[in-house]
Amino acid sequence: MRPEILFSLFAPVTTLPGVGPRMAEKFAKVAGERVLDVLWLRPAGYVDRRLRPSIVSVPEGSVATLALNVLAHQTPPHPKVPYRVICSDDTSAIELVFFGGRNDYLSRLLPEGSRRIVSGRVERHDGRLQMAHPDYAVAPDQADQIPEIEPVYPLTEGLTNKAVAKAARGGLLNAPDLPEWQDAAWLAKQRWASWRSSLTAIHAPPHVDEAALEVARRRLAYDEVLANQLALMLIRARMKKAAGRVVDGSGALRAKLLAALPFKPTGAQTRAVREIAADLKTGERMLRLLQGDVGAGKTLVALMAMLIAVETGAQAALMAPTEILARQHMATIGPLAAQIGIRAEVLTGREKGKARTALLADLAAGKIQILIGTHALFTEDVAFEDLALAVVDEQHKFGVSQRMSLSGRGGRPTHVLVMTATPIPRTLSMTIYGDMDVSKLDEKPPGRQPIATRAVPLNRLEEVENAVARAIQSGDRVFWVCPLVEQNEKLDVTAVESRFRELERRFGDKVALAHGKMKAAQKDEAMERFRSGAASVLVATTVIEVGVDVPEATVMIVEHAERFGLAQLHQLRGRVGRGSRASSCLLLYQDDPPLGETAKARLKIMRETEDGFVIAEEDLKLRGAGELLGTKQAGTPDLHYADLFRDADLLSVARDDAMLAVGRDAELTSTRGEALRALLYLFERDEAVRYLRSG
Ligand code: ADP
Ligand code: MG
Repeated sequence: MRPEILFSLFAPVTTLPGVGPRMAEKFAKVAGERVLDVLWLRPAGYVDRRLRPSIVSVPEGSVATLALNVLAHQTPPHPKVPYRVICSDDTSAIELVFFGGRNDYLSRLLPEGSRRIVSGRVERHDGRLQMAHPDYAVAPDQADQIPEIEPVYPLTEGLTNKAVAKAARGGLLNAPDLPEWQDAAWLAKQRWASWRSSLTAIHAPPHVDEAALEVARRRLAYDEVLANQLALMLIRARMKKAAGRVVDGSGALRAKLLAALPFKPTGAQTRAVREIAADLKTGERMLRLLQGDVGAGKTLVALMAMLIAVETGAQAALMAPTEILARQHMATIGPLAAQIGIRAEVLTGREKGKARTALLADLAAGKIQILIGTHALFTEDVAFEDLALAVVDEQHKFGVSQRMSLSGRGGRPTHVLVMTATPIPRTLSMTIYGDMDVSKLDEKPPGRQPIATRAVPLNRLEEVENAVARAIQSGDRVFWVCPLVEQNEKLDVTAVESRFRELERRFGDKVALAHGKMKAAQKDEAMERFRSGAASVLVATTVIEVGVDVPEATVMIVEHAERFGLAQLHQLRGRVGRGSRASSCLLLYQDDPPLGETAKARLKIMRETEDGFVIAEEDLKLRGAGELLGTKQAGTPDLHYADLFRDADLLSVARDDAMLAVGRDAELTSTRGEALRALLYLFERDEAVRYLRSG
């Protein structure tokens, strides 16, 4: 049971000032449904409104707060011309400019002859000083409504920055003072403030002091990694104690599978299967990480591992992070399973009604040996007859601990194999996954050709389209990936759709489109057309995880490659070069304004190497020096304030800290122990708390 002190944090966002049911839907899009989700929102930057110059001395291009006399309104002669409000102070004049401004509204906001405090960005246009759409315009006695420092939040249509800021401040005001869970000496050494003060420093900073913001962020990041370490440790300890089960297959199904395969497993695949088989028969519960670059052949290892369980008469499950990937696994595994005489099925949120009921009945009766699906596999109504092994294809998702707590029917322990395509350095994998055993696929299947990688400025788009034309001519298939724009779903869709239309104009129905906002059926259809070759070009956002296996795809085009992190670029490139034909990767970048140093370095690394482990090390270096409050890079989607790369030093401290804390107080009943329990609940590691005897 979650402690009462946390209730207000887990309350719905509608308990926040200014948030009604309709606004709550907007919040659900950018943050979540609870107060805590709003507090976890990390500002992408800050606007400083403290500059209060006279008009003559205002620096052009900067955000300023001005005390103005409203002189006159100039209503536009026709709708294309903006609405202007002429203002002045003792030194000069400035125009406030509104596009599509409404008369009545603007005369109420800025009555002629009144004084107004106005804040926004000042620019010069056609020689005239202007402020377009001021962020604030208030009467002098309301001046305190204008914050001196304003965090900038990710937004969605219908949700203003002001609304988010207000909600976050309201949430903080009501936030409880939680017991301090950090070690007192460590806290003092780092000069960290309390959890609540640190969050306040982020959402309502008294001034923009990058160093102070970073101190606050680090405290919150540490909380996060400490919670994770502690959860991993508690669950691991409990798993070690719990009896395992001996799973020792005859090898018959594995032999059949190998005979049915058109290729031979690589040495690395064989080694990994051998390591897994050895784990499964020790009698202890297996917890193993299978690390392998994109295309290294993890699926075969997973299938072989699952067959070991099936050989003993038990069942196995494979959980994928997305529906598309689950179906992809099914497409690969289903026919092989049928060939060797066992039954594999797929279960996602889309299986409904009678079909679902029948499938669940067969699963409970043990008539299905392998079940593939999304997290829907582990919902309440899914009961296996006897689940011996769960394989989690988790890409780069964080929060393994939840998945570790899986158990079979009647509480029989389930062995767990986690597969990851992120070749993270060992130091990091230790801290993310705890002391899991690791198998590495460090050898690619034979016959792979190197992928020729080039960086091309976006103004040479036509050349790129010509290359696409040639590829289509010669029967190749092309991925065209459009990036996320400003964390704004609507704009993203616009970008990907307009690229699609442009390519469609030239290449007709050879082009297919897939993005996250499409209906699942439409999306599947597009993917299927691309897979079958009916379409030669797939225009997509990364939202849909281009995790599809299409060996015929030989060209990967990434638009605005400068906006992607290294890990992501590497993942994307790995989608080609899977067959025996020569492949290429074009990284299109915007060079106006010129590329920053980090972006340049990323593109250079991509051109120089294809080795995921090398790329991961370089990534670590680049991110370590990365921007202070830049947008979070892909790779750690479940973390709010921590960045696995920038906070690598904190990870190992947290590990030792958690180990010591549990060593001294295994059941977390001391004063610090109680506080640590609150921490675990705060980060929703409830399952870890359940493993403690008392409380
Ligand atoms: P990933 O590790 O990215 O999940 P997959 O398991 O999807 O990689 O394998 C990538 C491709 O390589 C698939 O088309 C698969 O059939 C093929 N493959 C896997 N192992 C081998 C092998 N030993 N020899 C040749 N091809 C292989
Ligand atoms: Mg895979």
